[in-house]
Amino acid sequence: MIGSNIKKLRVQQGMTQKNLADKLFVSAQAVSRWENNEVEPSVSTILELAKIFGVSTDEIMGIESQKVDDDTEPLKEKENTYHDIPRQFLAVCHNCNQPIYESNEIVRKYDSVVWCKSCETNRITKERNARIDKSIKRRVKSFIISPILAGIWLWIAISGGGFTDFETVMLSIFGTISIFTFTSCCLLANNFIGEMTLTIMSWGFVKMPGLIFTLDLDGCLWFLTVKLGLFLLGMAIFLAFALFALILGLILSVFVYPFAIVKNYRRPDEIEDVF
Ligand SMILES: [Zn+2]
Repeated sequence: MIGSNIKKLRVQQGMTQKNLADKLFVSAQAVSRWENNEVEPSVSTILELAKIFGVSTDEIMGIESQKVDDDTEPLKEKENTYHDIPRQFLAVCHNCNQPIYESNEIVRKYDSVVWCKSCETNRITKERNARIDKSIKRRVKSFIISPILAGIWLWIAISGGGFTDFETVMLSIFGTISIFTFTSCCLLANNFIGEMTLTIMSWGFVKMPGLIFTLDLDGCLWFLTVKLGLFLLGMAIFLAFALFALILGLILSVFVYPFAIVKNYRRPDEIEDVF
């Protein structure tokens, strides 16, 4: 009973015993045994078969067609009335549960999970739109925060007498520009500036060695002194790296920013999720 149903559905869908066996991760012999009614497939296999064939488990177990099983004529009639256009059924979309009839409509996701083309196209469009939204938000953020920070620097430079000689004028102007470009590059996050700066800063985290000391007053004093010394050394190393990273980032960002802002406008769906 079950065997002949499996065979019928398999042949209907143009599958060989091997094709079906591969989908179920069993041997072709196992499929052959089910079809010859030597062995009955397990309940989980029947559920899997129903999914593969896109039919109900009842249909595989022959519960519905039992009444007309003796006579094949009514079954044929029924088929003809229900399927006005005879189409080859291929699979069911795992996302919208709609049957798929054309092989070029099938998008393979993983293992035996398939989606229809329209579901996959929708998903890609949605993902792309989400990335574009994110890109636009980043641009807006960069247009708000960067001028504020650059403005603060300019204000400090002016009020602190930054425009007295050539060097301070250059420092004030270049500082204002580079703070704007550096902050923007980091906020746009479609370039290497932010990541590079953080990476160089992280190199400054040096693990200080542990100490062995005796538990008397001298030992404790020695311990505290050396510990404090190592702490200050660690801080100095970190600050040196952080300063170097910042200066490098500030300088490079001036050259990177034009590309970053153009990229944000032209290809907003290409963003790197650094932050
Ligand atoms: Zn679908």
